[in-house]
Amino acid sequence: MDYQLVVIGSGPGGYHAAIRAAQLGLKTAVVEKGDVGGVCLNVGCIPTKALLHVAADLRSASHAADYGVTYGAPQIDLDRLAAWKKGVVDKMTNGVGMLFKGNKVDLIEGEARFGGANELTVGDRTVTFEKAIVATGSRPVVLPGLEPDGEVIVDSTGALDLTSVPKRFLAIGGSAIGLEFAEIHHAFGSETTVVELLDEIVPGADPAVAKALRKSFEGRGIDVRTGTKAVEATRTKDGLDVTLETKDGARETVTVDKLLVAVGRTPNGHDLGLDAIGVEVDERGYVPVDDHLRSSVPHVYAIGDVARPPLLAHKAMKEGLVAAEHAAGVPAAYDTVVPSVIYTHPELASVGLTEAAAKEAGYDVKVGSFPLSASGRATALGSDEGVVKIVGDAATDVVLGAHMVAPNAGDLIAEAALAIEMGATLEDVALTQHPHPTIAETFMEAAEHAHGRAIHIANRRAR
Ligand SMILES: Cc1cc2nc3c(=O)[nH]c(=O)nc-3n(C[C@H](O)[C@H](O)[C@H](O)COP(=O)(O)OP(=O)(O)OC[C@H]3O[C@@H](n4cnc5c(N)ncnc54)[C@H](O)[C@@H]3O)c2cc1C
Repeated sequence: MDYQLVVIGSGPGGYHAAIRAAQLGLKTAVVEKGDVGGVCLNVGCIPTKALLHVAADLRSASHAADYGVTYGAPQIDLDRLAAWKKGVVDKMTNGVGMLFKGNKVDLIEGEARFGGANELTVGDRTVTFEKAIVATGSRPVVLPGLEPDGEVIVDSTGALDLTSVPKRFLAIGGSAIGLEFAEIHHAFGSETTVVELLDEIVPGADPAVAKALRKSFEGRGIDVRTGTKAVEATRTKDGLDVTLETKDGARETVTVDKLLVAVGRTPNGHDLGLDAIGVEVDERGYVPVDDHLRSSVPHVYAIGDVARPPLLAHKAMKEGLVAAEHAAGVPAAYDTVVPSVIYTHPELASVGLTEAAAKEAGYDVKVGSFPLSASGRATALGSDEGVVKIVGDAATDVVLGAHMVAPNAGDLIAEAALAIEMGATLEDVALTQHPHPTIAETFMEAAEHAHGRAIHIANRRAR
């Protein structure tokens, strides 16, 4: 055999798996048909966060007059911006290449296809292996009639190419990708609209946080239309006419200069020859896996976006580590909570059960919440929109979930994830000293509120 382990795909799932396997002594190769680092590093997490950072700077500058500092109107050099964004991406992807070298992971460039149970073809090369990890990720869903044209209608990859700032920007899809690009375009000066088919943005989120983020968006003049779908689009000399239809059938045409279609992603489980070696691939393209990330053929694992939702980089990384350890004979299973973050301003972050999901699961639920408007740090930051909510089990006081809209909620949610993993109680959180003044205090204050002992806001009677 050429390799003890071959990993197909070098995104966050694949590169974590390969490096961990090599650390554990397996002779390992990664096959990659595109750019090292996958979607996340090249056209996902990292470049969007670079643009969101610039958006945050623009927004801060535009609010500086509130505290007596005025700047001129921003001059945005889009070429320099693109070069800076590329520099950020290159630094990260080169880093992965160096980690491969440092850990003696071979990188094989080309498209992999299973030629047999222990054999891959990559171009005209045959690579044999004992075990394989499929980490081929996902691609954007294409809506019929709204196919990306690379110019006016774009997917998330096209939206990253900010060669000009569109006067009117429309995002179809009120989840992470649509909202983050709406945030970016609005800060860069586009008239911005978000259209979401369901009744609220961020479907699946706790309604308290979804509403808080919507309020912030609308307060800044972003047009948020829920219960609405885009049915067709026609190019005109004035732009793109997009027909929107509400749930009750009312139609309206809006004219935009750029349309982002961000309605989900399709897993890349087909076109790899997996079916030919007996690996089950469902009709959507996911490769079903067990707790060790093994597919229906035990020496072939699947991780990350191609395995199952949620389609998040850190979930892919964790699954990569578990699969690699299991493949190397180390006892390992995947059973952790998955935090999720939308990097808007303020950020929306969530982990564990929502109040509704906890009730549905049969818990007698105890909740506490704390508005950012009562936080000294949030007020001093000029960013006091949002709410932090904690969900616990009334019977045991154990923390079941946390949901927040707050500045840097994406960092704060890690504390909530740790609380859940450690089996912490609401009381543990409430009694832990949090530094003052910080946004992190709001999590403690939400737990205090659940216990009827909040200082800065009115308490409901503790349950
Ligand atoms: C705009 C955007 C923003 C995002 N922001 C975030 C964020 O902030 N936080 C977060 O957690 N997640 C974010 N995501 C999601 C995140 O990027 C994915 O969940 C993550 O990249 C999945 O990692 P993966 O390893 O499963 O696959 P991917 O990153 O998709 O990598 C798969 C790799 O496999 C390669 N490949 C596919 N087929 C083959 C083949 N046959 N042979 C060889 N190579 C192959 C591909 O070229 C690719 O490089 C974002 C996604 C997008 C699109």
